[in-house]
Amino acid sequence: MQFIDLKSQQKRIRSKIERRILKVLDEGMYIMGPEINELEEKLASYVGVKYCITCASGTDALLIPLMAKKIGPGDAVITTPFTYIATAEVISLVGAEPVFADVYPNTFNIDPAEIEKAIYKAKEKGLTPRAIIPVNLFGLPARYRVIREIAKKENLFVIEDAAQGFGGSIRRNKGCSFGDAASTSFFPAKPLGCYGDGGAIFTNEKGLASLFKSIRIHGSGSDKYQNDRVGINGRLDTIQAAVLLEKLSIFDSELEKRNKIAKYYNQNINSVFQKHYIPKKYSSSWAQYSLLARDSDHKEKVISELKKSHIPSMVYYKIPLHLQKCFSKLKYNIGDLPISENLSERIFSIPMHPYLTIDQQDTIIEVLNHA
Ligand SMILES: *Cc1c(COP(=O)(O)O)cnc(C)c1O
Repeated sequence: MQFIDLKSQQKRIRSKIERRILKVLDEGMYIMGPEINELEEKLASYVGVKYCITCASGTDALLIPLMAKKIGPGDAVITTPFTYIATAEVISLVGAEPVFADVYPNTFNIDPAEIEKAIYKAKEKGLTPRAIIPVNLFGLPARYRVIREIAKKENLFVIEDAAQGFGGSIRRNKGCSFGDAASTSFFPAKPLGCYGDGGAIFTNEKGLASLFKSIRIHGSGSDKYQNDRVGINGRLDTIQAAVLLEKLSIFDSELEKRNKIAKYYNQNINSVFQKHYIPKKYSSSWAQYSLLARDSDHKEKVISELKKSHIPSMVYYKIPLHLQKCFSKLKYNIGDLPISENLSERIFSIPMHPYLTIDQQDTIIEVLNHA
């Protein structure tokens, strides 16, 4: 059994992907070929925002907006400690300081009340709060209506980290449409993945979109050899865009299957495991299906039972970011963000992808319910 089965997906669309890649080889436009524009238009229309700017990774998709807003030394960016390292790493990369705000114990997403505390804490430290990076963890959008109210009041820029969140939604609004800028990743294991690294930024603001485009290609101005600002080499490869165009065409049917599987898991997995709470009107893209065990001993026992039955599992995230060695200079201690720390001890993820058979789902459920 696979944790994420990319092979079955490839089988389904292999010939179409081959045709797309061959077209790129024939045309020879490996950098910024016509597939890039085609993909950006399709992604923007899928999400329902005006502009999409593809880039080299989900990490670059977070970095570019921070650079565009000139966020740097002396500035604070509020984010969650219960996420992948890239979310906070980019804040340090531009020289600003990440200030962590704890999460809700049921949605695992950043808690707006904790954001207000973090803003206060940042100011007390002499930092200028400039932005908030909420994360749509495991595909579930964060509480953007409240977050945007705080951002407006405090004049903060919101960067939606939707690396896992492409395909999630709140009411009729899709993930990647909630921030002033939104970032997603096309790393192969994400809900919409390519066959290498890739990412995209979304925004409704024309001025921001042109800044993002410029920073993506070395701060270029009206032509490539006129550089208006410092940027990066942050382009998406044409071949990856070609792959994504085919994957996007089956994305909705895959999303539907993920949701069906999540529902089946939710209904049949024993209630000793706490499930990921999806608030009313919210929907997740189920980048991961995660459960909470009673405590860390219980978790270890369940993981080893799964292993005995050849069922892969993962722990996202074993160490909350405030306790990572790379952030030791920020001087956080155990106990500072208790909810994230507790989740780290109890959480584990089981196989989730659109090609899980009903038999495989039943096997997983049975092992969990007897563990
Ligand atoms: C995967 C991920 C990223 C980084 O994306 P890459 O494409 O690997 O650079 C950022 N944030 C979160 C929450 C992620 O899961």
